[in-house]
Amino acid sequence: MKAVVTGGAGFIGSHLCDHLIAHGHSVVALDDLSTGSESNLVQLSGNPQFELVKGSILDARLVDEVIAESDTVFHLAAAVGVHTIVDRPLQSLHTNLNGTENVVAAAARRRARFMVASTSEVYGKNDTDGLTEDADRILGSPLKSRWSYAAAKGLDELVAYIYGEETGLPCVITRFFNIVGPRQTGRYGMVVPRFVSQALGGDPITVYGTGAQRRCFGSVFDVVPAVVRLLETPAAYNRAVNLGGREEVSIKGLADRVTAMTGSSSRIDYVSYEDAYGEGYEDMQRRMPDTSLAHSLIGYEPQRRLDDIIA
Ligand code: NAD
Repeated sequence: MKAVVTGGAGFIGSHLCDHLIAHGHSVVALDDLSTGSESNLVQLSGNPQFELVKGSILDARLVDEVIAESDTVFHLAAAVGVHTIVDRPLQSLHTNLNGTENVVAAAARRRARFMVASTSEVYGKNDTDGLTEDADRILGSPLKSRWSYAAAKGLDELVAYIYGEETGLPCVITRFFNIVGPRQTGRYGMVVPRFVSQALGGDPITVYGTGAQRRCFGSVFDVVPAVVRLLETPAAYNRAVNLGGREEVSIKGLADRVTAMTGSSSRIDYVSYEDAYGEGYEDMQRRMPDTSLAHSLIGYEPQRRLDDIIA
């Protein structure tokens, strides 16, 4: 495989680069280092099979050049993190829409296999019964909140799907559900690394909302090999596939688990969503993937439990 990994200096992207190199493939990572870091790739520096190109997916010419020599493209570059997408929705939208189109178009020209990282957020807030018209909402989600990210990712899926249908691009859409692991930083709002560093530092653990909201955390070490296997599985082409863990925990339960595992004496502080993210922010009460499609396509079965992930 001659692979390109956009967002290769990021959390999931850098683990994907490690995995591909360990399996004998050559890899070019394309990253603008906005939330990623070269330090995520130090273990690969000097490896002749690996190259990091610093630049943006918004630079169509660069994207084309980088992808010209490849047969497989993993597209993970995106504006991510609740703070980024709430504070700078326009820039996020621009990266996630225009950047994706540059990457998918270049992959289609090359007839490279293509994977795009999508998100559980495309399922939106699924806890209401009736749909009502509302001037502040589009695609069923509030405009002012983080849902522009979900809308952009939903459109990314559509763009990839349509390229797949019309150009025959072999393409897989992976919907990640709260993936966690080494190198993930708490700086952009990711809850597990934030709780762990607060607990280890003896600082208060800040739980947003009531803490009753429930999540399933998945290990990056389960998800990365699954992404590669999906792209090697023609039955997965032009499908959206959920990937994540299956062990559900409340956010308060996660804080308790982190406190116990780190032996920390940190107290829990509850912060309202409004204080954390500003007016209009909403969160989902529950987000749990059904991973049976991934299981039927590639035998996906997450191996790591929540305690392994925290450890
Ligand atoms: P990350 O921030 O570590 O990775 C994103 C990478 O993209 C970073 O290295 C960043 O520098 C790079 N990037 C951003 N804008 C760019 C641009 N214009 N040009 C080039 N590079 C750019 O986050 P991650 O958690 O590793 O996320 C990887 C992908 O998975 C993203 O597409 C994200 O939306 C998706 N995703 C992740 C999760 C999760 O739980 N971690 C959940 C759902 C979806």
